[in-house]
Amino acid sequence: MITYLDHFVRKTDSNSKDDDVSTLCKALDLQGSIDSGATDVASKDFGGMNYIKPLAFIRPASTDDVAKVVRVVARTSNLTVAARGNGHSINGQAMADRGLIIDMRSLENHFHLIRINGLPYADVSGGALWEDLLKWSVSKFGLAPRSWTDYLSLTVGGTLSNAGVSGQAFRYGPQTSNVTELEVVTGKGETLICSEFENSELFFGALGGLGQFGIITRASVLLQPAPDMVRWIRLVYTEFEDFTRDAEFLVSIKESDSFDYVEGFAFINSDSPMTGRPSVPLDPNQDFDPIHLPPTASSILYCLELALHYRNTDHPSTVDTGVNRLLAGLGFVKLLKFEVDVSYEEFLLRVKRAEEHAKANGIWDAPHPWLNLFVSKLDIIDFDRMVFKKILKEGVGGPMLVYPLLRSKWDNRTSVMLPEGEIFYLVALLRFTRKEPSAEKLVAQNQEIIQYCIKKGIDFKLYLPHYRSQEDWKRHFGNQWSRFVERKARFDPMAILAPGQKIFSRIPQP
Ligand SMILES: Cc1cc2nc3c(=O)[nH]c(=O)nc-3n(C[C@H](O)[C@H](O)[C@H](O)COP(=O)(O)OP(=O)(O)OC[C@H]3O[C@@H](n4cnc5c(N)ncnc54)[C@H](O)[C@@H]3O)c2cc1C
Repeated sequence: MITYLDHFVRKTDSNSKDDDVSTLCKALDLQGSIDSGATDVASKDFGGMNYIKPLAFIRPASTDDVAKVVRVVARTSNLTVAARGNGHSINGQAMADRGLIIDMRSLENHFHLIRINGLPYADVSGGALWEDLLKWSVSKFGLAPRSWTDYLSLTVGGTLSNAGVSGQAFRYGPQTSNVTELEVVTGKGETLICSEFENSELFFGALGGLGQFGIITRASVLLQPAPDMVRWIRLVYTEFEDFTRDAEFLVSIKESDSFDYVEGFAFINSDSPMTGRPSVPLDPNQDFDPIHLPPTASSILYCLELALHYRNTDHPSTVDTGVNRLLAGLGFVKLLKFEVDVSYEEFLLRVKRAEEHAKANGIWDAPHPWLNLFVSKLDIIDFDRMVFKKILKEGVGGPMLVYPLLRSKWDNRTSVMLPEGEIFYLVALLRFTRKEPSAEKLVAQNQEIIQYCIKKGIDFKLYLPHYRSQEDWKRHFGNQWSRFVERKARFDPMAILAPGQKIFSRIPQP
């Protein structure tokens, strides 16, 4: 069969026919299918800046199918394979140049409630979407995962391969801190169960591992009782120092004294609907009247975004009292406070609504030269001064998130890289492009920001990192590079997995 697959690869180089694909399918003997027609889907991602055609798009029906594909690829002379979650990467990370793409969403969407040491967990497929997990766990059991991403049409395996961060991470850590067990198909095609106590190198390697050590086919995600409602609040700041002081205060105080969600963003002091003052109110009936801004307000403003969970049975005055107590000492512009009450699911699915608008405006499918960084608290004021206030003074056509996280909530045995120090900031430049400036110019602006950080010695790490040379990857991993390389040699010795990350080159077989 290997000879056949190599032959298939050569033939595909010279435009093979669908017949070859169906023969390949038979040769692999999958329960699922191989779709040659859908290679176009797997050639693209949300970033919209790469187009890399694979040989075939495989729709596995089971973990066994995933393992079969990986085993066969490992025995070919130079084929690679990438798991594709929902293809929401920016820089072709889930692509494989003339390799095989495994469509993780085709795995049967199984959800099971299990109990480990008395705690509830969802046992879910690696290709499940977080939004489906939310609907299942809340509707069936009144439970929900603790740590989320802002947008939920992402796969469980895809975000666990990065980190999975949102406004709950200051309290519970990223999604990688909220799983207890994984089922992983390694680059050797072995299917292993791993956890902190069993195959722990694989467990911690795969978490934040950029798909380099194995394909996550199942995960056990910790659940907790879901609230019914959320008080969702936005507070405007004119000074970055006030904004960061309050944000850092809220993420550092005792759980019972804080909000359940803390995020923030920078925006432009203009009337632009996407990037200016109109992007702040939470309800169409609310108005951001610039008259309330002090005359000292500059062209960049900041918004602290908070949420407090509550139950339907809580009396409205109890919620008001709780919120007012928490807001009492904060230094926001007092007349620029916006709040709404929404159901918990509505809150978690908030970006879905933004997606619908963006699709209607045609900007969802345009290129997204996004840049995500973790920046040390020690350098965030300098970063603001140069990046938000100068380089990005016109905005990025979409949200510019900036909010603090706590390092102690992350497990340093995972593959995720963070700056030093307990408090660091997530900075996400979520660019939505129109015709001008071109995506190339925006990518160049991202590079300018990265170069500025390097030149100034700013302590930062790229989140959802993207580098093209191994030298850059070595710098990214720093003193953890040798651990990363050892894990690679142990779990994917032929370097067949996730070639789109461009960390390792496939080791050719004679
Ligand atoms: C609109 C939008 C909003 C976002 N919001 C957030 C946010 O709030 N917080 C946050 O942390 N991130 C956010 N992200 C980024 C998101 O975490 C990444 O895109 C991530 O890659 C998950 O996307 P995906 O499931 O489509 O995976 P893909 O993009 O398909 O894959 C990502 C990488 O992981 C590998 N991979 C995929 N599945 C598996 C698996 N099962 N096992 C092993 N490797 C696998 C792929 O080969 C690839 O290298 C957002 C992205 C978008 C587009």
